[in-house]
Amino acid sequence: MKIVMAESTEHGSATQRFTTTGRTNGRTKRGIRTDKLRLFWRSSMSSWLSRLFGWVLGSSKQPRLVCERRIWSAGVEELRRRTLGGRRESGAFLLGRDEDGTKRILEFVFYDDIDPDALRSGIVHFAGARLSRLWAICRTRGFGVVADVHVHPGGYQQSPSDQADPVIPRAGHLAIILPHFASREAVPGSIGMYEYCGNGRWLTHTSLGRAFFTLH
Ligand SMILES: [Zn+2]
Repeated sequence: MKIVMAESTEHGSATQRFTTTGRTNGRTKRGIRTDKLRLFWRSSMSSWLSRLFGWVLGSSKQPRLVCERRIWSAGVEELRRRTLGGRRESGAFLLGRDEDGTKRILEFVFYDDIDPDALRSGIVHFAGARLSRLWAICRTRGFGVVADVHVHPGGYQQSPSDQADPVIPRAGHLAIILPHFASREAVPGSIGMYEYCGNGRWLTHTSLGRAFFTLH
């Protein structure tokens, strides 16, 4: 198990990757236009497919993650408060239980309550040595870590370090990212939702929204 968790400041958006220069040298405008159309078609097709897939999943399957609205709202509010007005990132372990394949969030355990230095640098940097405190809380409550959540200054896409360093590097672990320092409404549909598959691979469930993560 990897017990050193680190974050970098890299939170590049997907669009930045397309703004390369010099690539279109020597190409016709028609060619560029065709590429753009193809790109547009591909992205609208994939978002349409995601929505359809989400609808089918939502109507036939139980959500993977659930939480009472009051627990979620209070936790998000506390994460927002701990950013000190958007001056640093914050995050929490999400503790709870597995209920027949659906993970239920019952408690937020904030990184800086376990490791007082976790947020000091402005980005989440958790000392693995402090994890014993987390396991003690889990034992006392009879809960497990069902997911983790952290805020980003900008969008909810995973950064390269989010992908490289899963908080719990176990297949099936869920990671949630709240955009804009959690300063806006942070509910399924407007937050990033990712599942670790092992071997450095992740699945993105963001577009499934409430079908994947239901507040009630
Ligand atoms: Zn991140």
